[in-house]
Amino acid sequence: MKLLVPVKRVVDYNVKVRVKADNTGVETANVKMSMNPFDEIAVEEAVRLKEKGVATEIIAVSCGPTAAQEQIRTALAMGADRGILVEHDGVLEPIAVAKLLKALIAKESPDLVVMGKQAIDDDMNATGQMLAALMGWPQGTFASKVEIADGAATVTREVDGGLETVKLKLPAVVTADLRLNEPRYASLPNIMKARKKPIETIKPADLGVDVTPRLSVLRVEEPAKRQAGARVASVQELVEKLRNEAKVI
Ligand SMILES: Cc1cc2nc3c(=O)[nH]c(=O)nc-3n(C[C@H](O)[C@H](O)[C@H](O)COP(=O)(O)OP(=O)(O)OC[C@H]3O[C@@H](n4cnc5c(N)ncnc54)[C@H](O)[C@@H]3O)c2cc1C
Repeated sequence: MKLLVPVKRVVDYNVKVRVKADNTGVETANVKMSMNPFDEIAVEEAVRLKEKGVATEIIAVSCGPTAAQEQIRTALAMGADRGILVEHDGVLEPIAVAKLLKALIAKESPDLVVMGKQAIDDDMNATGQMLAALMGWPQGTFASKVEIADGAATVTREVDGGLETVKLKLPAVVTADLRLNEPRYASLPNIMKARKKPIETIKPADLGVDVTPRLSVLRVEEPAKRQAGARVASVQELVEKLRNEAKVI
């Protein structure tokens, strides 16, 4: 069984994101970049499926700048077999990425796409759903457990009120939530081995996909600075402040 795992290059989750001085977006120059954390979970799940003997090949795909090869290498060091970089400088909206993935699916015929439920930069939570819709495939989003048997994926989903379990006929799209697994760290020997694994580079035009953005960001702003807290001397004072200053009781 062949798995396709999309991995996005994003600002590292430990970095405090700063808005650009001209309010057109967030600062990415000289900022540590990493694989989107939900994609690490997706790669881990794919590698576990390979270790269980369910998957036979894992292809890590990134759509983005040349530097996104680093994220593909990370996926290869975690256990993916080969990589594909769809090289593009500039904005790639979820619909564009979904179309690129659709074109790659036509070339590679995977049985399952495992991807992050959202990317921590634009928080769109859309690419997996759009891909499933474009393919006409079943989707299991917000997965906290995935089991594959008899040509189907049984996916436990984290929904608002609890858990929902759905059975999807393969091929399908599964998007990973936080509790699906704990991603492994790539060991040094595996990082060395990953350097020898192949990465194919192609352009959106090679796949016949127009990635021209359809949205324009008008303005990005920092959230308002939080006010400093204050100590109160007694419960009476607290109640008085809550009633008369904060007006919440
Ligand atoms: C685990 C979890 C944690 C969450 N945490 C937060 C949180 O901390 N903060 C927060 O704000 N939200 C949170 N959410 C999201 C929130 O609770 C809802 O899930 C969210 O508002 C979207 O609702 P939905 O999933 O039902 O969306 P959908 O069912 O996809 O609905 C989205 C919209 O689609 C349209 N639509 C859907 N069906 C129909 C129909 N039949 N006819 C016409 N229109 C339709 C409507 O406009 C609807 O509002 C969380 C969700 C989950 C699952």
